[in-house]
Amino acid sequence: MPALRLVLGDQLTRSLSSLKDWQTGDLVLMCEVAEETSYVRHHKKKIAFILSAMRHFARVLESAGLTVRYVRLDDRDNTGSFAGEIERVLTAHTFDRLIVTEPGEWRVMEMMRGWEDQLGGPVEVREDDRVLSSIGEFELWAQGRKQLRMEYFYRQMRRKTGFLMEGRDPIGGQWNFDQDNRKRLPKDLELPERLSFAPDAITGEVLTLVADRFGDHFGDLEPFAMPVTRDDALAVLEHFIAVCLPKFGDYQDALAEGEAFLFHSTISAALNCGLLTPGEVCEAADAAFKAGDAPLNAVEGFIRQILGWREYVRGLYWLTMPAYKERNALDAQRPLPEFYWTAETDMACIRDVVTTTRKHAYAHHIQRLMVTGNFALLAGLSPDEVNRWYMEVYADAYEWVELPNTHGMALFADGGIMASKPYAASGAYLNRMGDHCGKCAYDVKAKTGESACPFNYLYWDFVARNREVLGDNPRMGMMYRSLDRMNPETLSDIQVQAEAFLDAL
Ligand code: FAD
Ligand code: SF4
Repeated sequence: MPALRLVLGDQLTRSLSSLKDWQTGDLVLMCEVAEETSYVRHHKKKIAFILSAMRHFARVLESAGLTVRYVRLDDRDNTGSFAGEIERVLTAHTFDRLIVTEPGEWRVMEMMRGWEDQLGGPVEVREDDRVLSSIGEFELWAQGRKQLRMEYFYRQMRRKTGFLMEGRDPIGGQWNFDQDNRKRLPKDLELPERLSFAPDAITGEVLTLVADRFGDHFGDLEPFAMPVTRDDALAVLEHFIAVCLPKFGDYQDALAEGEAFLFHSTISAALNCGLLTPGEVCEAADAAFKAGDAPLNAVEGFIRQILGWREYVRGLYWLTMPAYKERNALDAQRPLPEFYWTAETDMACIRDVVTTTRKHAYAHHIQRLMVTGNFALLAGLSPDEVNRWYMEVYADAYEWVELPNTHGMALFADGGIMASKPYAASGAYLNRMGDHCGKCAYDVKAKTGESACPFNYLYWDFVARNREVLGDNPRMGMMYRSLDRMNPETLSDIQVQAEAFLDAL
């Protein structure tokens, strides 16, 4: 008997496990459903990207000879849910089982767990073998460990895959070249042009649909130039490897006003929906190193993001959900300020990141972590509200990767499962890594006073406010010793100013 094979919007990979052992008579079901487009108010570009990539992928499957039932969001009889669409197929056809690849998100897995009863037939959930470490493998690695530090997981992954290895040892004698990767962007350095892809007829139709249905969502829909096919995504990867990778390491942590991409790869949206696979991306970078086209600090830094961080956050997510999401270790409760949507703030660094985000549904890692994330941490913004913002505004956001990064890395809401200390920084860090401060209404050097950079007094207020939770953290020892040496009047001024600023948000 034939099988029904469900392919989700982030499973757009020809070698997907649920498409293996295809037989004549099987049917692929792909559906654009309201429960996915609307469970958070996604950026318009994010919705357009995923729907267009799905429609293109359905064409690829059809031209490979597979039979596809594709349900569009605006199809008259669309029930709005996966289960509804599967039931609709089952009223007209008979299948001996439903085959699906495990979903990225806990929420969808919970749904799937009920399907056998709901649909009255077997559901085969296959492992997602596009990733480099399975959920079970991560669980095994985590077993019995007091701390789940990414660095040790990453070393295991290097040994397992052989990327940048000489036998059992890392090439260059070091696992990590982070200390070489913290340069400020020189003023006269030319930044690479980026590829852009003109919308074809399929994307054009999607853009009209998104403008009609989701016109009141955050973000600019047009110009739309994202890579919605595998060929486009491969072109972005090739361009990155040839043009950007050699300098990726040096300027990985840099910030520059009005420059959204610097030397970053911009592949995350394509990677997370399946147009690229992590293995092939690491292979391309490894090959560039072997060919002498990119230096070790750049290639190691880049491979660590994918083989290390990306695999690690996925493992951590599945290990700790659903309790992980409920944690709020610093008891942060403040609502998200309006300027996260409008960019209307005198803080030049935040204004720039929100503007970039609105335009591209993209910001690079340091913008997410050290600007909007750092502000949210220092200001004690509610993790639920901050998580929701990150889920909505970035085209690459799926909960399995967004949540550990926001909840754990940026907000320390998990109490230190992911990061050994909060990524809290004052204006001095942002001034060192970027060029916003020179153009800002605030004075980055001033600690208090009307013109003082808010990151300065919020930083010390954060350290003082969270002493009970963070005071014993050995990596925070220096901060607390500095706090204790601070003149009590200065601290009091800082706290008064921080409170007034936060109350006015
Ligand atoms: P590059 O800098 O070129 O890095 C290459 C690739 O490495 C990325 O495409 C990505 O796949 C991977 N990578 C890098 N850092 C991480 C990381 N910390 N975790 C997982 N993968 C990583 N990434 C997402 O894919 N989706 C998200 O929703 C997301 N939310 C984030 C929220 C916060 C608060 C922070 C601090 C980071 C978040 N990240 C997220 C991680 C990272 O910022 C993005 O992957 C990266 O900016 C994407 O741009 P890029 O493709 O140019 O990456
Ligand atoms: Fe940001 Fe402060 Fe610099 Fe202004 S002075 S850009 S608020 S860090």
